[in-house]
Amino acid sequence: MIKSSAEIRQAFLNFFAQKQHQIVASSSLVPGNDATLLFTNAGMVPFKDVFLGAETRSYTRATSSQRCVRAGGKHNDLENVGYTARHHTFFEMLGNFSFGDYFKHDAINFGWEFLTSVLGLPKEKLLVTVYETDNEAFDHWANVIGVPEDRIIRIGDKSAGKKFESDNFWSMGDTGPCGPCSEIFYDHGEEIWGGPPGSPEEDGDRFIEIWNLVFMQFNRQADGTMDPLPKPSVDTGMGLERIAAIMQGVHSNYEIDIFQALIKAAADLLGCEDLEHKSLRVIADHIRSCSFMITDGVNPSNVGRGFVLRRIIRRAVRHGHKLEAKSHFFHQLVSALAEQMGDAYPELIKQQAIIEKTLRIEEEQFGRTLDRGMNLLNDVIANLSGDVIPGKDVFKLYDTYGFPADLTADIAREKELTIDQEGFDSEMQAQRERAQKASNFGTDYNEQIKSDKTTHFEGYENHSFSSTIVELFNS
Ligand code: ATP
Ligand code: MG
Ligand code: MG
Ligand code: MG
Repeated sequence: MIKSSAEIRQAFLNFFAQKQHQIVASSSLVPGNDATLLFTNAGMVPFKDVFLGAETRSYTRATSSQRCVRAGGKHNDLENVGYTARHHTFFEMLGNFSFGDYFKHDAINFGWEFLTSVLGLPKEKLLVTVYETDNEAFDHWANVIGVPEDRIIRIGDKSAGKKFESDNFWSMGDTGPCGPCSEIFYDHGEEIWGGPPGSPEEDGDRFIEIWNLVFMQFNRQADGTMDPLPKPSVDTGMGLERIAAIMQGVHSNYEIDIFQALIKAAADLLGCEDLEHKSLRVIADHIRSCSFMITDGVNPSNVGRGFVLRRIIRRAVRHGHKLEAKSHFFHQLVSALAEQMGDAYPELIKQQAIIEKTLRIEEEQFGRTLDRGMNLLNDVIANLSGDVIPGKDVFKLYDTYGFPADLTADIAREKELTIDQEGFDSEMQAQRERAQKASNFGTDYNEQIKSDKTTHFEGYENHSFSSTIVELFNS
């Protein structure tokens, strides 16, 4: 019986290997071929140039389990973590790819065979969507696979009027390969709130999207015309954690084997008895994304990928604080992660000490100001009239206490408040202008920070933030 995450991952790769797919190891989270992309956010990313025809490989069918991060840029699920049963910042995407080899029919056949024959999912629990005008996919699902027509849902453009934004139509960019998608959903049962795709309640967690099949069929030109691709291709992605939840008979991804082990480890360290506590889920999510980012060479900083990493670490540390963490707990979770995922990702074991050290330094640094920042924020909230935290307070929390704005927003959201992002941005801008002016007049801004450091203690903790403003500014 295929049940554990490790077994599912292996079963998937084996199944597609039997269908003549080359098994390709997961690439780095830092995309090697795309400077515009913050993190690898889908299984197709390492194959982008193959789809574009700029790179050829010795095979035309591939399969992989690709590590992905969606915590910035176009796909950002950071705000969903802790709020939905199905979103992580880090997850594994199982995929099969055809580079001008098979197309729509085989992609659908393979997907259905894997889910219903290999994994043995009950057909009546599955629903599928197709792009609204994709009759070919609709007919194949209905007539060849035998899905009842009322379980095949046509999905059109999400926001009509917007040029390229749609839900069941995928594109690599404004121009280039694109085409309709067909997605497979699983019904977790009527006791869970949510409606089928396309319904007003679709964002609920009853019907969970498990697999997206993308049919790359056209080449979109700058003027919007769609030329058929001479060799249509296929790109698919299925979240390992979502399919594991189904196979393990649980609803939430956070209840699967890997997550339960991480949650238990965090609960032990933090002395928390409520294993369903949202903060434990967030921490378990964040230890995965942070550890894998570090493994792939990302270092905490105040710019780019490093800033995403730093923000996620600080969110995790804040959740530990909420659970009254007595010590630096976060880095101590790396061993539990290595135990869970080290077989599939040996680099986690190899780099365990580096990951732990990197996280520990960040925890120590932020730990020094976290308490005082929380006190300030609690005061601000206690004296708030209205439900928006002013930009100047958000900025002070950032500049003095190391609370990135999204962390303050995260805390605010728990109290049904929001932050004044615009006000914060203009404070940031003013800060940059002051720094610019200082350097124009020949003052060494770094010197200024250094002297702050010697005059009063807070300046020391300020240092990393103020100096990164300079970093931002110089970049
Ligand atoms: P959703 O609508 O649930 O946000 P999506 O449509 O954004 O998912 P795709 O871009 O189609 O997701 O990615 C392919 C598959 O990857 C999804 O069907 C899902 O199984 C998985 N997946 C996507 N985002 C996440 C995430 N943040 N955490 C875990 N799995 C994910
Ligand atoms: Mg999404
Ligand atoms: Mg979706
Ligand atoms: Mg999708």
